[in-house]
Amino acid sequence: MKKILALVLAFAFIFSFAACTKEPTVSNAHAKKELVMATNAAFPPYEYKEGDSFKGIDIEIAEAIAEKLGMTLVIKDVEFGTIIGGVKTGKFDIGMAGMTVTEDRKVNVNFSKPYATGIQVVIVKEDCKYKSYEEFWSKFDEKGNPAEVAKGIKIGVQQDTTGDIYASDTLDNWGFTADNVICYKTGAEAVQALMTNKVMAVIIDNEPAKSFVKANKGLKIMDAAYTEEEYAIAVSKENTELLEKINKALDELTADGTIKKIIDKYIPAEEK
Ligand code: GLN
Repeated sequence: MKKILALVLAFAFIFSFAACTKEPTVSNAHAKKELVMATNAAFPPYEYKEGDSFKGIDIEIAEAIAEKLGMTLVIKDVEFGTIIGGVKTGKFDIGMAGMTVTEDRKVNVNFSKPYATGIQVVIVKEDCKYKSYEEFWSKFDEKGNPAEVAKGIKIGVQQDTTGDIYASDTLDNWGFTADNVICYKTGAEAVQALMTNKVMAVIIDNEPAKSFVKANKGLKIMDAAYTEEEYAIAVSKENTELLEKINKALDELTADGTIKKIIDKYIPAEEK
């Protein structure tokens, strides 16, 4: 009798368990669709990690967009250089990483309306003998090339970023040529290379530059800026419906002041 009771209980347990495991499948049908965002969370104040959680301007704007779209935001922290390819193939729905709109990137993905601007700047050690990057080009050798650059100035950049593209450009385009550029996986690693004198300067976006200078003693941002850029969200060319929805959400979030509020939270007015 005891045995039968045990058997009945065991079956009851198995069935109730099966019922339990079945339930989420049913509710999954009503679950919100995911909005998978690829980013590189080493770019403060746009995206960075605090413990296990993602923080930053892009994260909060993406959350606000997902909410408007009735979707659940899922964040994938990947190498910056893999974001465009992953969005193109549909591995990620969107790429949001303080990403500058460039003609080359536009060949592979669509961009939303811009939601912020960035400036490329040069970080050097406080005691750097050059006051501006124009000084690198101030003396020319007999071939007409900047003599200082020829001496082997090494520039650190985050691989595949616009800082990398500008720094690796030819001398007549104010670049340093690819031979003089050392690429790192993250901006933070490039800054560490500057701290340990492996490179003489780091070319990177203004806001992360300010964060890095604040966090590391003995660094400064050179006065002259390279260029101003626009940040936007990358979406697959196949998914124009999502792009339209994102643009509409961005319009609404701009109109009701949400985007400004998020940016102001991370970049206080006195630092702009
Ligand atoms: N704005 C730069 C770019 O798009 C850098 C972005 C980043 O490092 N996350 O290339």
